[in-house]
Amino acid sequence: MSFADSPSEYAAASARILRDEPTMRTAVTGAARSKDDRRRAAWSQIDIEAWRDWARDLKSHVLTHLDRYLEEAERRLIENGVRVHWAETAEQACAVVASVAVVHRVRRVVKAKSMLTEEIGLNAHLETHGIEVRETDLGEYIIQLLGEPPSHIVGPSLHRSLDDCRRLFHERFGTPLDAAPEILAATARRVLRDDFLQADLGVSGANFLAADTGTVALIENEGNIRISTSLPRIHVALVGIEKLVPELEDLAGMIQLTARSATGQPIGNYVSLIQGPRRPGEPDGPDEVHVVFVDNGRSALLADEHAWETLRCVRCGACLNICPVYRQTGGHAYGWAYSGPIGAILAPAILGLEESMPLPFASSLCGACAEVCPVRIPIPELLVYWRERAVAADLTPPMERLAMKAYANLAERPAAFGAASDLVRFLPIVKGGRALPVLGSWTGARGAPEPSTERFLRKWEQTYGAAHESSVRGKEEGQ
Ligand code: SF4
Repeated sequence: MSFADSPSEYAAASARILRDEPTMRTAVTGAARSKDDRRRAAWSQIDIEAWRDWARDLKSHVLTHLDRYLEEAERRLIENGVRVHWAETAEQACAVVASVAVVHRVRRVVKAKSMLTEEIGLNAHLETHGIEVRETDLGEYIIQLLGEPPSHIVGPSLHRSLDDCRRLFHERFGTPLDAAPEILAATARRVLRDDFLQADLGVSGANFLAADTGTVALIENEGNIRISTSLPRIHVALVGIEKLVPELEDLAGMIQLTARSATGQPIGNYVSLIQGPRRPGEPDGPDEVHVVFVDNGRSALLADEHAWETLRCVRCGACLNICPVYRQTGGHAYGWAYSGPIGAILAPAILGLEESMPLPFASSLCGACAEVCPVRIPIPELLVYWRERAVAADLTPPMERLAMKAYANLAERPAAFGAASDLVRFLPIVKGGRALPVLGSWTGARGAPEPSTERFLRKWEQTYGAAHESSVRGKEEGQ
C-alpha cells in the first residue's frame, strides 16, 4: 500500500481501498472513533470554547505579524547558538539537511515523526546521498518496515490492525504471532537502540517555536523525540514558518490544547523545549543545532485573503478523526502527506489547485471538522472556496459543469423548475430502490428513494407558505 500516485487518483484509489482492503476500513474507523471519543472527554474537562477562541486569536495574531516574529525568532536562535537556515521550497529544505549531513560525513540519521519532512520528501532525498534514515516513532517505524507512507497526521500506522503488526514483527524479528502489544513495543525499542547509538544526526519537526526565547517545542508520547534530538551530535529541526508563537508562556496553552485535541491527553508524556546545543558542563545534548525555516508555499497561502486561516493548523488530526469521508479510506487515497479535511484545503495551496483536484470535493460538507478544530479553521467554507475556484478555472468535469449550469437556470425560474420536476417525477430513473446508470454512482452502495408523487414547490407552499406570508405581513405592519 502506498500513496495514490497523486491527489488526482483520489477516486480510483478510494474505490480500490474500499474494494480490496476491508480490514483497513475497519481499522481506520475504529481508531478514528476512539481518538475522537478521547478528544471529546479531554475537551469536556476545560472551558474549551474559551480555549479555542484564545488559540485562534493567538495564531491569527502571529500570522498577521509573521515577518516581525520570524525576525525575532531568528535573532534569539542565533543568540542561543543555533544555526538558522531559510528554505523557500521543499527542494531547498532537503538540500540544507543533506548538506549538513554531507559536511559532517553522516551515515545514519534517526528521525522523529514530522509531517513537514513527509511533505518535502526528506527521507528519499537523504537516501540518494547514501544516508540511511531510521524512523523512531513506533507508528512511523512500522510503516517504514512495511514500505508505506503515513495514513494519519498523528497516528501514521492507524490503518494497520494489531494482527498486521504481529505478522510484520513475526516476519522481521521472529516474535510470536500472538505477541502482546507490549512485546512488539519492547522489540522495536531493542532494535532502535542500536540506531540511536550509531546515528550522527537527529532530525525533528517542531510543534511550536517561541519567538521571544528561540525555543523549539516538541510533544510526544514515546521518548524517541527526546533521544533523537539529544543523543546524536547534530540535531536539525525543520520548522514550517507558521509554527511560531510569540512568547514562551504561550506554549503552555498551545501544547495542552494540541494534546487534548490529538490524543485526548491533558499533555503529551514528554515535552521537549530545545534551547540550543549542549553548553559547557551539560551532560548531554548535541554539539550543533540547526533550525531550517521552511516556506514551501506558505507565504503565498498567507497572502490569500480567504485561505490564509489554514495556516493556524496545529496538526492535531481531530478533523481527520471525525470526518466521515476520511474514516472510509484512511489517508493513502488522498495521494500526499496530509489527508482528511486539512489535507483537502492545504493541498491546493501547497501543491497547486489543478494538481490537488479533486480533493476539495472529497467532503460531504457536513461541518463536523469545523466543530472539532481547536483553532477554529473554517474548513467547510474553505472547501467551498477552493471548489468555487476550481469551477471558475474549468477544473471540474465538463458534464458536471453543464448539469450545474442547467440546474441553476431552472432553479431561478419557478415555473420552469416546477415543469421540470413534473417531468423528472415520471421518468423511470429509480426502480425498486436502485437508480438507472445515469445516477448509478450515487446509489451503487445505498438505496434510492422513489420520487415523490407531488411537486416540491407545492409541498413547500403547503407547509411553509402561510407561515412565511404571515411573518412577512407581521414585519411590514411592525415597520
Ligand atoms: S485543521 Fe484543525 S482539527 Fe484539523 S489538524 Fe489542523 S488544527 Fe487539527
